[in-house]
Amino acid sequence: MSSDDGARLWVAARNSVKAEIGEAAWGRWIDPLIFRGVGANVARFDAPTSFAADWVRRHYAGEIAEALNEAGARCERLLVSAAPPCGTDGAADASGRRVGAAAAARSPSRSAAKPLMAGEADALSSAPLDPTCTFDEFVVGRPNELAHAAARRVAEDDQVVYNPVFLHGGVGLGKTHLMSAISWRIAERTPARKVLYLSAEQFMYRFIQAIRRDNTIDFKEKFRSVDVLMVDDVQFLAGKNSTQEEFFHTFNALIDAGKQIVISGDRAPGDMEHLEERVKSRLQWGLVVDIHPTDYELRLGILQSKAEAALAKAPEVSFDEKVLPFLAHRISSNVRVLEGALTRLFAFATLVGREITLDMAQECLADLLRASDRKVTIEEIMRRVSEHYNLRLSDMKSARRARAVARPRQIAMYLAKTLTSKSLPDIGRNFGGRDHTTVMHAIKRVESLTDTDSQIAEDVELLRRMLEGG
Ligand code: ADP
Ligand code: MG
Repeated sequence: MSSDDGARLWVAARNSVKAEIGEAAWGRWIDPLIFRGVGANVARFDAPTSFAADWVRRHYAGEIAEALNEAGARCERLLVSAAPPCGTDGAADASGRRVGAAAAARSPSRSAAKPLMAGEADALSSAPLDPTCTFDEFVVGRPNELAHAAARRVAEDDQVVYNPVFLHGGVGLGKTHLMSAISWRIAERTPARKVLYLSAEQFMYRFIQAIRRDNTIDFKEKFRSVDVLMVDDVQFLAGKNSTQEEFFHTFNALIDAGKQIVISGDRAPGDMEHLEERVKSRLQWGLVVDIHPTDYELRLGILQSKAEAALAKAPEVSFDEKVLPFLAHRISSNVRVLEGALTRLFAFATLVGREITLDMAQECLADLLRASDRKVTIEEIMRRVSEHYNLRLSDMKSARRARAVARPRQIAMYLAKTLTSKSLPDIGRNFGGRDHTTVMHAIKRVESLTDTDSQIAEDVELLRRMLEGG
């Protein structure tokens, strides 16, 4: 296309934009634009100031692109630079209204949209937080201690020390819980500090709403007026370019103003594939802490704390303590699943009036437990049994014959026979090269002990259930 053609296009397009947005806005924002041409589906403009460039991008990109297309150009997006000279603004993505509207039509988050409708009047109300998700309710263990300490620091310290704080970890490991805890703690300790908590999807939704209503300036200013901004599940920003852009600007403005930012994501910033490089690198400036998958100790701690709370509410329920270690072993996925298991047990116990025992748990949680079912190995049996009896793994293979060692070893052999398809000689080899007759003897011994010694019977049963689920 020749530059004459381009100029003619713009003359036509300008007029239809004028009809569309009205003479006053047109005179203020569109008329001063200098048209630089269309190429590779991008229309380029210079605006007199960076503010004007920003304003045009945010408010009129859709109209302008549409008008250009109607006039016969191929324009998918605008590049509006502040001129002269061509500042860094020029690099900014100018997708603006059109992208926003398209993204909204695709409805990136129907579920997020619904609760927000109610809060639309105040574009900046925090998303609702669970009142039980406080620091008091958060059980600290090795996998989450760093994240917990960082969150505490944010809540207890008026000085911004680490910025941003980026918490990442798999689903159900307590990211949202920690963010709520920060929020509640600040509300309690320094209520004047303004905290805003949002999911990334809500952030996106509000941003798109603001574009639609032409009040992005307002939107930005409100964001920039908070003291602590928390954006949850930032991985959902990935890919939405104009939102990433806005997020990035808001983020920079807040950091520059010394405001605290806390972000969560399902993985480390560097691993977020669809996030723009500069957003990634900016996210890594502060403190990045990961929440590791729960270990047995932490799961048990969490179960104990939640069971206590449940028992306080339903004191009539009788509860066998052994259920907790059993669940902590058998359910190794996220904390939400653990909680769900306990909730179900208590519901069942109160509704049907049954005691919560190992049997009852196994029956009631069959689906959950089955989900974690897998093949048991001899190595694992030796490990679990030695853990259970506080022995070293090597004791399972050693020649030591003291009863404190020999008995558990026999139990392990018995479990190897009943839980795996290994032959007696195979099992013998695994247990330090013992003869198959030794294994046979061990099995017989344990069988008779489980009839006469209730402690051993119980141990065997517990170990068996744990091993069957992994
Ligand atoms: P995420 O946001 O990481 O997916 P959540 O914070 O929503 O996970 O946690 C899932 C559930 O598990 C919530 O009900 C939360 O209260 C609970 N939870 C997670 N970690 C802990 C913990 N360390 N102590 C107590 N409850 C926890
Ligand atoms: Mg969460």
